[in-house]
Order: sequence, then C-alpha cells, then structure tokens
Amino acid sequence: MKQENKVFKSVLDLIGNTPLVKLNKITSNFKGDFYAKIESFNPGHSSKDRIALYIIEQAEKKGILKPGDTIIETTSGNTGFSLAMVSIIKGYECVLAVSSKSSPDKIDMLKTMGAQVFVCPAHVSADDPRSYYEVAKRLHQERKGSVYINQYFNQLNIDAHYHGTGKEIWNQTEGTITHLVACSGTGGTISGTAKYIKEQNPNVKVIGVDAFGSVIKKYHETREFDEKEIYPYRIEGLGKNLIPAATDFDTIDEFIKVTDEDSAHTARQIAKTEGMFVGYTSGAVVQALKQLNEAGEFKEDDKVVVIFPDHGSRYMSKVYSDKWMNDQGFFDSVHEETVEKVQY
Ligand code: PMP
Repeated sequence: MKQENKVFKSVLDLIGNTPLVKLNKITSNFKGDFYAKIESFNPGHSSKDRIALYIIEQAEKKGILKPGDTIIETTSGNTGFSLAMVSIIKGYECVLAVSSKSSPDKIDMLKTMGAQVFVCPAHVSADDPRSYYEVAKRLHQERKGSVYINQYFNQLNIDAHYHGTGKEIWNQTEGTITHLVACSGTGGTISGTAKYIKEQNPNVKVIGVDAFGSVIKKYHETREFDEKEIYPYRIEGLGKNLIPAATDFDTIDEFIKVTDEDSAHTARQIAKTEGMFVGYTSGAVVQALKQLNEAGEFKEDDKVVVIFPDHGSRYMSKVYSDKWMNDQGFFDSVHEETVEKVQY
C-alpha cells in the first residue's frame, strides 16, 4: 500500500491505490464532473498489475505455487508485462505464448522483464496445436507446478478488481459516484469494479466501452453470439471475438461502441488538454464520454468515473506516431512533419 515517506519492500507494494484525478478541460463543456482512475501509476504501468499479483497470490494461498514454479499466459500485452514483473520479484518462471503479430518491441520488453517468450503463428485457428492457446495449454500440462492464468476465463480476474479498483473508487469518491464508464476486454476491470460499487449503491450506472468489430455489445443485448459483428479493428485491449467468462454481463447496464479513429484522436487530445499521457483505450473511454454527453446521458450534479487502463509510452509506434496515424488514414490530409525545423 502506498504511503508517504515510506520505503517499500519491492515494487509489488506499489500495486493498486492509484490516483483518481479530475478531468478539467476535455470535459469542460459537458454536464457533470468527470474523474479518471489512472492505472498507469501502477509499477508495471497498467491495471493488469492488479490481476497478476492477485491471481498469483491466490494460487500461493492454495499451495499451488512454490518458488521456481511457472506462470503461463497467452499475451504480449499489459498482462504479460505485469506477470513477468510479479514473477521476477516472487521467483517464478514466466512463460508467455504470443502471436507472431506481436511487435518486436513488445517481445523485447517481455524478455527484458525475464519472461520466456514463445512466438506462435498468428494465422492458425485457436485449436491448431501451433496456436498460442494450444501451446500455453500444452506447456501447462507438461510443467508440474505451473499456473495457467487464462485471464479471459478466470473469475479471479473479476475478484482482483472487486477488492481493489472497485473499493478504491468507492472510497475516493466518498460514495458520490453516479456513473462508471470503462473499457471491456476480458471484462474483469468493469465487472469487478461495478460489482463492488453496485453492492454499495445499486443506482450507479455502469457503461461498458466496446469496439466496432467486437461481439460484446450485441451479446449483452441479445445473449446471442453474432459472428456477423466480428471484423478486424486496430484498437488493442478493447472488445473481443469471443464471450469472456471474466465478463459479468449482469453488472453492466449498457455498452457503447467507439471507432478506432475517434479513439485515437481523443487519446492525443487527452495528452494536450489534461497533460495525461495514457494509452489508446483511455482515448476510447473519453470518446465514449463525448458520445454519452451528446446523447444527454449526464446531469449537472453527476459524478462520472472513468478508468484509464495504461500508459501512453506503449503506443509510441501507433497512436502517438504521426506516420501511423497517416497510414491508417486518420488525418484528413497528408499530415505535414510537425517537428519544428531549426534554421541555420
Ligand atoms: N485497455 C487496455 C490497454 C488493456 O490492455 C485492457 C486489457 N485487455 C483493457 C483496456 C480492458 O481491461 P479488461 O481486460 O479488464 O476488460
């Protein structure tokens, strides 16, 4: 737990208790007050530190893990980084099966954090023995004393946010929160946070943010899996092409979809207006606020909390690269080099 003027035993003591910061400019014309839970203040720079620590400590409590045992997951993203970080401190091997689509930067980052990375072909079906799902499952079966985190299907993912993120937001807002707006990937963040907050006040409205190209919103509305909803999109960490068991659909009142393009522009706008350098999905969640405000969702005395899941530094070759934005067609005209040229 973070405390002033204290020396910490390890970076693990810095996980959780992230700040809630008022948004001042980007929402200034909206009805209501808006606050962001900034998860990049975790030592691994994302909300996934919470689930990595929680799931590993639950396994320790059950006696499943001994020093030298193995943590296995299929991710090249934030969860991989957090698991690698927790594994180093606690003395576990961390094995990550990742898709060959993952950028070399991400793979290097995981290796830097001591993880053993298996790069698996991206264009094979999930049940192909070469897929990262199957490779992770096989490694789990082969290695005694291993834990397969399986974040999309692990109830502990929800529990981590119930005990952490949800309780913190409730206390930080002194129970005055009226709306929670958060991205849904595995759904662990929104489900666990919403569950805790709704137990305190069932009238708090919970709105999930989903991507165009994901099945989640439609499934929430119909409880049917509609393959027609699925098509490629660019934003990572948001939405899914399957129904994650780590999403408790009953805790969420509604979903709203945002585009890749709007979310990218909004992420850039957050940096320029609030001085917060946050990830692509933080842009998505503020984009959702814009759409909800436009639709008349908020009243003057509402207190709306959003979750900013990770740090902007992970997106330097994407949203924060003018070249990438141009390549996606996200600028109206070919963007001129914006770096000032010094005249000699
Ligand atoms: N944003 C980012 C950048 C993420 O990596 C994730 C996790 N996939 C999310 C949002 C969504 O969080 P959750 O998986 O808890 O729904």
